[in-house]
Amino acid sequence: MSYNNTVYCGYCYQKGHNQRGCPKKKQYAKDNPDSYVARDVKESAAASKNRRCGYCKEAAGHTRRTCAMYKSDFKLAEKVNVAYRAKVLELLKQYGIGIGALVKYEDTWRGNGTTMAIVTQIQWDQVDFRGFENSGTVRFIGVTPCSQLGHRYPDTEWVSPPEVPWYDGDDSAEGAAHRPMKALSMLNPVSVMAVEATVPEGWVDNIGKVADFYSGDHYQSPRDTAERVAKKMAESENKSE
Ligand SMILES: [Zn+2]
Ligand SMILES: [Zn+2]
Repeated sequence: MSYNNTVYCGYCYQKGHNQRGCPKKKQYAKDNPDSYVARDVKESAAASKNRRCGYCKEAAGHTRRTCAMYKSDFKLAEKVNVAYRAKVLELLKQYGIGIGALVKYEDTWRGNGTTMAIVTQIQWDQVDFRGFENSGTVRFIGVTPCSQLGHRYPDTEWVSPPEVPWYDGDDSAEGAAHRPMKALSMLNPVSVMAVEATVPEGWVDNIGKVADFYSGDHYQSPRDTAERVAKKMAESENKSE
């Protein structure tokens, strides 16, 4: 494939197909069954039959691009992620979590107890539906402890919002001890307008980092998570009706 995405055939040099899809090559192979070309066509057909899909690992003669499982999984992930981000944004507006908000959280890690802080950063690209069961991925709110304001290099602590949409992670007391969640509570929220002013354009509809998990041979597919979120979403909709 050339730089501008145009395919050229290595057999007939025409634009728009490759050797494997070349009608002239196929015709020649048919007319000359004992030729080298005929053998080549036969071998590459057998090879493509045995090729494993990088996504579903089935030797079903297809690639990730044409994998039905990949397509439906990715579609679900997109749908779930849009719903998840929309919900997170709703919560940020509801609580008034934006740059400049005054918050507090329990600093269990350093043993500093209740810490007052100002929201100074929001890592929008960290927010995706995997936060539903992994509290580690929902610490996307960067705060500077008030005691550090005015320092030349103030610390940034990463904390999570008071609520995580449809959260289904380890919420037990035992789990909490290991959970670096540090949920904040609001002392002085910012306005809805102030929250909206910092949301990147198109953020809700963007699948973000989840896409990486579908593009490489990643050991961890978020498909199961997407399915669980979808189920939780449906349940909570039924409950509110
Ligand atoms: Zn051709
Ligand atoms: Zn496949």
